[in-house]
Amino acid sequence: MDQRLTTDGSADQTDATRPAPTGPREPGVPDVRRRIPRTDAVLGDPRLLEAAHRLGSGTVKAAVRQAQERARAGAVAPEEVADTAVALLPRTAGGLRSVVNATGVVLHTNLGRASLSAAARQAVQEAAGPTDVELDLRTGVRARRGRTALAALCARVPSAAAAHVVNNGAAALVLVATALAAGKEIVIGRGEMVEIGDGFRLPDLLVSTGARLREVGTTNRTSAADYAAAIGPETAFVLKVHPANFRITGFTRAADAGELAALGVPVVVDIGSGLLAPHPLLPDEPDAETRLRAGASLVTASGDKLLGGPQCGLLLGEEELVRTVSRHPLARALRVDKLTLAALEATLTGPDTPTAVALAADQAGLVRRAERLARALGADGIDARAVESAASVGGGGAPGVTLPSAALSLPERYAAALRTGPVPVVGRLEAGRCLLDLRTVPREDDERLAGAVRSVPGPAAEG
Ligand SMILES: *Cc1c(COP(=O)(O)O)cnc(C)c1O
Repeated sequence: MDQRLTTDGSADQTDATRPAPTGPREPGVPDVRRRIPRTDAVLGDPRLLEAAHRLGSGTVKAAVRQAQERARAGAVAPEEVADTAVALLPRTAGGLRSVVNATGVVLHTNLGRASLSAAARQAVQEAAGPTDVELDLRTGVRARRGRTALAALCARVPSAAAAHVVNNGAAALVLVATALAAGKEIVIGRGEMVEIGDGFRLPDLLVSTGARLREVGTTNRTSAADYAAAIGPETAFVLKVHPANFRITGFTRAADAGELAALGVPVVVDIGSGLLAPHPLLPDEPDAETRLRAGASLVTASGDKLLGGPQCGLLLGEEELVRTVSRHPLARALRVDKLTLAALEATLTGPDTPTAVALAADQAGLVRRAERLARALGADGIDARAVESAASVGGGGAPGVTLPSAALSLPERYAAALRTGPVPVVGRLEAGRCLLDLRTVPREDDERLAGAVRSVPGPAAEG
C-alpha cells in the first residue's frame, strides 16, 4: 500500500491523533501537511540515532511526534521537523525536567526544595555505581551503613552524641513516635499541632503510629507547668514542634527545651528547617546545636530545607535514644539510599550550598545583575526592566521573613512561554508583569536565563 495516498505524511499516526480536517482547502494554498516527513525518515537523522542510544527510542519517537504535530499546526516548516525534534529532546532519559527557579522562593516545595551543591551532585554521580556504603574496604568486613555521612553530621553538631538518617522529616517523627511511644503518650502543646502542607497534619502522623497524644495548654499560651501536670507513667516523651509555616503573635507563651528538660522525661524537638547552628539572617529559626545544648534529648529535622541537602530526615541527640530508634524494625523501612547519603555528606563537608548562597546574596549585587540583563535584553527589543522585589525562604520555613531582592520584569505573557520553553524558567506574576527573581537564580545561570527569554517568540519590539 502506498502510504502517501492514505496518510497526511506521517504513516504511523493513527486517525485518533490526527487533527480533524477543518473544511475545504483554500485553492492555491499548498498543503504543507502532505510534506511532513514520516517518523521513520526523521529517525534516520544521525543526531536522533545517537540520541536513541543515549535516551531510548521511545523518548526520541515522542520528540519526533511532537515535532510533526508542530509542523501540522503550522508552527514549523516540514523541512524543520528533524531540527525541531532534536531541540525537543530531553537532556536525560528521566521524566523530571531541570528548571530555572526564578520564583524568589529559595526552597520551593513544588520545585523539589533545596538545589544540591556542585559537590553533592558530583558525589551522587560517583555513588551511582557500586560503592562501599556498607563495606569496610580495609578489612573486607561489613560496616555500618552511611557511617561517614553520620560522622560528618555529628562533627557539625558537637552536642549530638549520635545521629541517624531516614527518608524525610516526617519519617523521623514517625520513627521516634513508633520506637519510643507506641501504646504510650506523647505530651504536646496545643499551639504546636501543625499541618505541614498538602493536607498532612503532624498530629495525624503521630497517632498513626499507635501513640496517644496528650494535649496541653492553649493555642496561644502553654507553660512548663502545663507539661509538668500532664506527665505521668504513660508519658513516653514531650514533643516540641517548631511552628515552621505560621506565626502566633500577641499574647503568647511557650515553654522552651531547657525548661522541659527539667521534667525528667525525654524531650524531642522537631525543628523542621534543618539548621545545624544559628543562622545570622534567620534569628527566629531554631537550630539543632542550640536545642540539644539547652537540654533536648533528640532533635528531628529535614535535610532539604535550610541545610540545603537532599531530601532526608535527620535524628540527632543522645546515644541511647538514637540507638533505640535506629534499631527499631521500622527503621529498615525508612532507610535512605546511597545516593542520599552521598549527597548529604558532600552537603555537610563541601562548600556553601546554593541555599546558603541564595540566602546570603546582597540586594545591591542582585540589582546590578538585573540591570545588566535588562540592558542586554532591551538592546534586542525586549521590554525587560530591572526592579526591586521581595523574595522569601519558603519550604514551609521562616514565615514572615522577607529577603530584599531584585528581578527582571517582563510582560505577563512571558510567564507561560518561559515555563513551557526548552529551558523551563519558573517566575512569578505580580501586578500584571512576569518577574524573574534573581535571588534564587545562581549567578552562573544568568546567560541561560537571558537565552530562555530571547527564545520566546513574539514581536521584536513591544508597544
Ligand atoms: C517540614 C517540616 C516537617 C516535615 O518534614 P519533611 O522533610 O517535609 O517530611 C515536619 N515538621 C516541621 C516543623 C517541618 O517544618
